[in-house]
Amino acid sequence: MNAPNDGYTRIPALWFQDGNIVIRTQNTLCKVHCSILSLRSGVFQDMLAFPQATGGVETMDECPLVDLTDEPDDGPSKKVDLLPLLGILRLSHKYDVEKLHRRALEHFDHGMFYSSYHAFLKTPDSDLGPLAQQHTITVPDSIPAIASSSPCIRVIPTLSNSPIALLLAIKAITSVQAQCLLPVAYYWLCIMPIQDLLAVPEDILPRAKLHWILQKRKVLAVKRAKILENINQFGWKADCEQVEQCASARMELLSHHIRQNARGDDVCLLHAVTVVDFGRQAGLCASCLKGVNALCSEAFHWEWATLPALFDLPDWEVLNQDRINVLDLFDDDDW
Ligand SMILES: [Zn+2]
Repeated sequence: MNAPNDGYTRIPALWFQDGNIVIRTQNTLCKVHCSILSLRSGVFQDMLAFPQATGGVETMDECPLVDLTDEPDDGPSKKVDLLPLLGILRLSHKYDVEKLHRRALEHFDHGMFYSSYHAFLKTPDSDLGPLAQQHTITVPDSIPAIASSSPCIRVIPTLSNSPIALLLAIKAITSVQAQCLLPVAYYWLCIMPIQDLLAVPEDILPRAKLHWILQKRKVLAVKRAKILENINQFGWKADCEQVEQCASARMELLSHHIRQNARGDDVCLLHAVTVVDFGRQAGLCASCLKGVNALCSEAFHWEWATLPALFDLPDWEVLNQDRINVLDLFDDDDW
């Protein structure tokens, strides 16, 4: 391609010599096929059907020229870096490029949607197969990660260890109405260490949203305390084989989990209580071990089931159906 020196950058991957339409976004140009564009995008289909409506057709390289006013960084990209991905998500929604939109959403879906509490607990980087790597979202160095360590924050290829990255993702997800991704995104946001949340600039985290987060943190802390209460619940002595030893083991187990968050309020509602391993190590009898485990497990599953309601979202059943529709999960014909 011999690019004329006209001040425009031609994107090589999107410049087809036999293309029949040129698209200009600020100072970049793409030359593509009109029919394929129309097929993929309802908005382009309408736009190209009535070129004269905008007052005559400008041409370039002997092709009609269409101006898009969006930033060039928002154009198609094979990268799965967070910022280009957010641009693709917004633009594909705006221009109704259904399959591109779905593909961008799949990256977020992989890192932010879990079908069950069990799936949520599984560390995503433990089974990074080719598919997982394909969907990994990387956060650029320019966006700060959390400064403080917390046992609840998993430093994995998700957005859960950077409040700014997560807030940008939540904004984009909300604008394209992919609300099935919001329960976990909101949860991650609300359990961020408070000092990291307070360090986020106000234009990214407005005061009203910060206030909302702080209110949800209160609820999370109360719920978390109730889950930990199960370790020392009333009435356990009836079935115990060794009351004194188990009383001390229960206190040890409780202290262990309280100490994990000694530097801040414990809002990590869904963080697993390691009953079996640590309880056994602390000397809980089999009966107490079973009792504590069952109570905690039941409580966690309840909290998972009601997580969307905690963030004022529809229940999982509605969100799951929404996800099937948005990602078109029953129609994977040509991807
Ligand atoms: Zn016991």
